[in-house]
Order: sequence, then C-alpha cells, then structure tokens
Amino acid sequence: MKSVIIGAGVAGITAAKTIKEIDRDAEVVVIGDEMFLPYKRYLLTELLCGLLTQDDLIFLSLELLHKLDIKLRMGESVKSIEPSKKLITLHHNEIIPYDKLLIATGCIPSLGLILRPYKSYIQHYYSLNDILVLKNRLPEIKKCIVFGKGVSCLDLISGLYNLEKQITYITKGKRAHFGLKESEFKDKLHDFLEEKGIDIVTEDRIVSIDTSKHGYRVDTLRQKKLTADIIFGWDHYTPNISCIENTSIKKRLGILVNARLETSEKDIYAAGDCMEIYNPCLKKYWINFGFPNALEQGRVAGENMLGREEEYKIYETITFNLMGKSLKARWWK
Ligand SMILES: Cc1cc2nc3c(=O)[nH]c(=O)nc-3n(C[C@H](O)[C@H](O)[C@H](O)COP(=O)(O)OP(=O)(O)OC[C@H]3O[C@@H](n4cnc5c(N)ncnc54)[C@H](O)[C@@H]3O)c2cc1C
Repeated sequence: MKSVIIGAGVAGITAAKTIKEIDRDAEVVVIGDEMFLPYKRYLLTELLCGLLTQDDLIFLSLELLHKLDIKLRMGESVKSIEPSKKLITLHHNEIIPYDKLLIATGCIPSLGLILRPYKSYIQHYYSLNDILVLKNRLPEIKKCIVFGKGVSCLDLISGLYNLEKQITYITKGKRAHFGLKESEFKDKLHDFLEEKGIDIVTEDRIVSIDTSKHGYRVDTLRQKKLTADIIFGWDHYTPNISCIENTSIKKRLGILVNARLETSEKDIYAAGDCMEIYNPCLKKYWINFGFPNALEQGRVAGENMLGREEEYKIYETITFNLMGKSLKARWWK
C-alpha cells in the first residue's frame, strides 16, 4: 500500500512515522515544499533569539528517515489532486499515484486587503527560511513594529523583547489580549507588556507603509506616523490548501474532516493546521491549531490510513510560558 503525505511539517511527518512504525513494509512518500529537513516550527523564535541552534529544531533526522524508510521529497510542491483517479500532480507536472493520501499543508499568515499592497515591506515570520534571513538582519534592526493578533504575535513580541529590540505593537482591539484563555492574567497582559517597555497602540491599524532613508514610515488609521527598521504584520492565518482547488474535497476555511480525520473524499485524510474539525463544545467546525494538536492529529491520521478507526480527541487549552509567566491559550505550549 502506498501512502502519500503532502506537507513535511509536524502532522505530516508524525503520520509518516506512525505508519512505518506499525507497518515496516508500507510505502510512505512525504512531499514537502521547504528545502530543510522536517523541523519544529514552534521553536523558531528560540532559534531567532539564539537560545537554540538549527540542529536543535530538527524534527526527524536524515538517519531516522533512512532507518524508517520514509521517502522525503524536499523542495517539491503539490499542485493538484485528482481524488477520482487517486493521483496527485507536482508543480513540475510529475504525477504520483496513491492508495491513501494525507493533506497536512499547515497554515500561512495572510494579509487583508489594506495591507496587501505593502506586502514587500512586511517581514514574513513563519518558516525556517524567514528566520535565517531575519537573523542576518538583526544587527541593523532596532525599532520594530508588530501588527497582528493571536498567540504567534505574542511569541514574536516576546522574542524581540529578548533580543532587546524596541517594539511598537499595533492592535485593533481596546487592549492587547491575543485571544488567551487565562482569565485572570489575560486582563493584566496589556499592562504587563507595557511594564516591559512595549509601546502598545490600540484601536488602530496600519493603513500605509513607505520606505525612507532610515527604514519605513507607517501611517495608521488614527493618523499616527511611526517609523521602524522592520515591520511584522498579518491579519489572520489561512489554511494553505491551494492544492485542493478544483476538487470536490469539502472545505470552509480549512479542509473539513470527521473525528477519524477523513475528508469528504474516500481515502483522503487531513491533519494539522490545514483542517477544520467539529468542536462539540463550540458547536461548530474550527481549526485546532498548534504543535501538540498537529502531533496528535498526525498520529491518528497515520493509524487510520492503515485501516484503524481511531478518533481524534480535541485538546482545547494548552499552557505556555511568556517571559516567565504561565499562560493558557486555546493552542500553544
Ligand atoms: C513562529 C511560530 C511559533 C510557534 N510557536 C508555537 C508554540 O509555541 N506552540 C504551539 O503549539 N504552536 C506554535 N506554533 C504553531 C505550530 O508551529 C503549528 O501549529 C504547527 O507547526 C502545525 O503543524 P502542521 O504540520 O499542521 O503544519 P506546518 O508546520 O505548517 O507544516 C506544513 C508544511 O506543508 C508545506 N506545504 C504546504 N503546502 C504544500 C504543498 N502544496 N506541497 C508540499 N508542501 C506543502 C508547508 O510549507 C509546511 O512545510 C508556532 C508557529 C510559528 C510560525
């Protein structure tokens, strides 16, 4: 049986390992569009801050890939899927057949209509490549503007703080809150960050960016004029699912799956940040973001691709550490 996995992130690689650990003879091919060995994305900020090395981030070494006999095709991207013929097509038009397919393509930070024209001025903060490029630029960076929401934004702010950068955080909200669950500290977070020296601009957003001799000039909706050496920004995270366009695989924002992580198409599964699963507490489909969730979903998908009938249990609240404070978020660690 041939299992093909799209995406060499935590979910995809965990599924590949699970399959090979159960069935040594199964053929497993993982196709990943990044040029690196599978790595732990959730530790990128630690790498940026110099707390970890690139080697510390490796999620599956070359030796283990060989030992498990997982075929990893790095730097290759899947263009399309034909569920009725059980085929996928890569960007260079190579066609690969599968018996079971897992889509584990993660999410990408995306810009809304207002910021999209300024895309080239905004630093991406998502991949190992982004961080390696950014690390080279660090010595010339003093003033940073961060615009966005969610815990990843808080993670970035915390990293820049560790690097002793001057930070201005712009939020559309009345207070900086990052969607945390911790009720007691959640309300104090804004003041906590200000005490740490972070300048917080509330109820505002970036409306235009221009370059200047000394970096960037930023205009906000409330007519603030700010300057920075670098700008980080994203409006939301979007599942990276362009490869299912023109297929009958059901989706909303992400690919819809049932508790066994099966999509609407036979023998196609989805796991990790690219999929949406029904949350009985929220009574709606949602993306169960985060590293520990992707890991568990990868395991469940791998088992089910071998014919088992495991159900994924939703983990809602995860604890993580912010500048020495223990916080709870819907995702994170
Ligand atoms: C800076 C940062 C810090 C984070 N910190 C934390 C944290 O502390 N705790 C936590 O829980 N979570 C954290 N996260 C989130 C966490 O990393 C993700 O939730 C997790 O990586 C999701 O795993 P995944 O396998 O679903 O997707 P990903 O890790 O995104 O992997 C998907 C892979 O698929 C590839 N791909 C996409 N489309 C294609 C295609 N068509 N063909 C081939 N390959 C494709 C992508 O390039 C990517 O390599 C952080 C994320 C970032 C960016």
